[in-house]
Amino acid sequence: MEISLRNQLAVVTGASSGIGSGIAKSLANAGATVIINHSSERSVEEAQAVLKEITDAGGRGMTYQCDVSKEDQVIKMFQDTVSQFGTVDILINNAGIQKDAKFTEMTLDQWNAVIGVNLTGQFLCAREAIKEFLRRGIDPSRSIACGKIIHISSVHEIIPWAGHANYASSKGAIRMLMQTLAQEYGADKIRVNSICPGAIQTPINKDAWSTPEALNSLLNLIPYNRIGLPQDIGNLAAFLASDLADYITGTSIFVDGGMTTFESFSTGG
Ligand code: NAP
Repeated sequence: MEISLRNQLAVVTGASSGIGSGIAKSLANAGATVIINHSSERSVEEAQAVLKEITDAGGRGMTYQCDVSKEDQVIKMFQDTVSQFGTVDILINNAGIQKDAKFTEMTLDQWNAVIGVNLTGQFLCAREAIKEFLRRGIDPSRSIACGKIIHISSVHEIIPWAGHANYASSKGAIRMLMQTLAQEYGADKIRVNSICPGAIQTPINKDAWSTPEALNSLLNLIPYNRIGLPQDIGNLAAFLASDLADYITGTSIFVDGGMTTFESFSTGG
């Protein structure tokens, strides 16, 4: 059974680092041409390093700087991608940030920043992707489906998270965005799903794994007893984007080493 994304173009937001870079490499490995999106000037080199790894392995892609929370920039990213590569087949809505604070001390700026990237960014990219899927229509030489969207959500789609109300709210909302799009565009053969990672070793949660004490305490939450790697998410993303997953739409898949079984109840609660 081969996962093939040959002839397909994937936009991966937030692909200069962490989970997004792992997904970009997995999709490229399956044959997709990958747009490696990032937002900041300081991550240009990181994005280029991801592209180099892909091209060194025989893959294709392009880096693209764009802040997904800005409507004009997102529209331009999709326009530029379509004019250079013809169309878009796959969107991985991955870019995300945290701005943590105790709820009573959370500023409106912290709230808006996280909702702006994690939720509004996913809305804007999904809207532009779906417009392009519908413009192109189904092309069986590319995929059975008209287009595929994978939202990167989190276990915090269902696990409340004290001190992170903005982040947990953004992830809870992604579930409804994903299911609504799957329902609204199912008849057009557009598949929409979410991947909900548990603890994956990336810069966003460095404090949780960078010392032995922190890592030990994190492992207490994970029955499978290891931290996840970007590749763990990339493997599922490549499968979900492929025609092997053609009957999967409107669902959240947790990739969390069992975190959502609530390890603290393992001795009977
Ligand atoms: P990360 O290593 O910090 O990477 C974040 C990526 O998003 C970077 O490429 C960053 O590029 C990009 N980004 C940030 N703001 C952006 C914006 N406005 N527009 C475009 N790109 C932007 O984080 P990660 O851990 O890989 O997280 C990726 C996704 O997985 C997030 O949605 C996160 O919520 C989710 N997730 C992560 C974990 C985990 O344990 N790591 C668990 C559950 C869910 P710039 O630096 O250029 O902005």
